[in-house]
Amino acid sequence: MTEEKRLLHAVKEAKTPFFIGVDVGGTSIKIGLVDDYGRSIDSGAVNDEGVHLSCISIRTEPHPQTATELIAEAIDDMFKRLHIDRSSCGGIGLGIPGTMDLVTRKLRQPPNLHSWEGFPMCDELSKQTGLPVLFCNDANAAAYGEYWVGSASGQPSMALLTLGTGIGCGIIIEGRSIDGATGYGGECGHLVIDAADDALLCGCGQRGHLEAYCSATGVARRTLNQTDRRESSIRSKISPETRLGDIAKIVYHEAEKGDSLAYEIVMDTAKYLSLGIISLLNTVDPACVLLGGAMTFGGRDVPLGQRFLAQVTKEVKSRAFKAIAEKIMIDFAVLGSDAGYIGAAGLAREEFLQVKKK
Ligand SMILES: [Zn+2]
Repeated sequence: MTEEKRLLHAVKEAKTPFFIGVDVGGTSIKIGLVDDYGRSIDSGAVNDEGVHLSCISIRTEPHPQTATELIAEAIDDMFKRLHIDRSSCGGIGLGIPGTMDLVTRKLRQPPNLHSWEGFPMCDELSKQTGLPVLFCNDANAAAYGEYWVGSASGQPSMALLTLGTGIGCGIIIEGRSIDGATGYGGECGHLVIDAADDALLCGCGQRGHLEAYCSATGVARRTLNQTDRRESSIRSKISPETRLGDIAKIVYHEAEKGDSLAYEIVMDTAKYLSLGIISLLNTVDPACVLLGGAMTFGGRDVPLGQRFLAQVTKEVKSRAFKAIAEKIMIDFAVLGSDAGYIGAAGLAREEFLQVKKK
């Protein structure tokens, strides 16, 4: 079967309507096509090495109008390559960091994309593609991806904590993303876990937040506070030029090699994380909590990641209400960086179903 025939066969086998997910990041934008069951459809695009791409990736332009035009163009090209008629697509989910003003429909405070502030991106993309466009926060979109076809598939409710440079969080309850009154619903990275006056400073400017302790930056700051006082193999690996994000990676590698301070820092991260998760459980009581992102110490495939998860679970269970402790499932996310576009497409599908009902 030729490559084109294989692609067209996959499109024919898919369950329509299709949905498009757009996941906007600080440096690149992912665009992917998903069918009604949440299955990713090969985009038909190939990279420079000739490898097929399940989704398209384009550079994030500083000017939002240009970025919107490039997204619309990429979607158009994808439809043409896959011989898909626009009418078989139910809509586009646009996942962006930050929020959107629900009245003016303009972007509000997109972190790392300051020039996009106030741009009516959903309406503009809708105008250019002729398709309905739903706004969603990128962390909520990733959570929906895991809820729909990832680790939380089949669960009625869930929360995803994405541990990276910062901590993203999304909460989904029976198909609905908890966006809140101002679009900041589910921002669990900023739950307060330390009330001390000298608690660690968070990226948002406040002290004592979960993100200040368990993000890559938080782990790095805690490490720097300890390496002056304790003997450890970490010290020889760090110089004044080492970036904070790289320190967390050094901690991971040294902990794997058996350094006791590095291992303690990983286990302390589990403890701090459990404090945030407890507040989340006592507020929402989701059926499961997933951990994703680059800061999961190797995840389920390595012994350290497994021990980290076991420690988070143990700490959570020791502090939770008995009924919650007996039932709560804490696990790693599985979709990786695809969760964002798959979830954005899924949230567009939820909106499509709601509109159809009316
Ligand atoms: Zn914060």
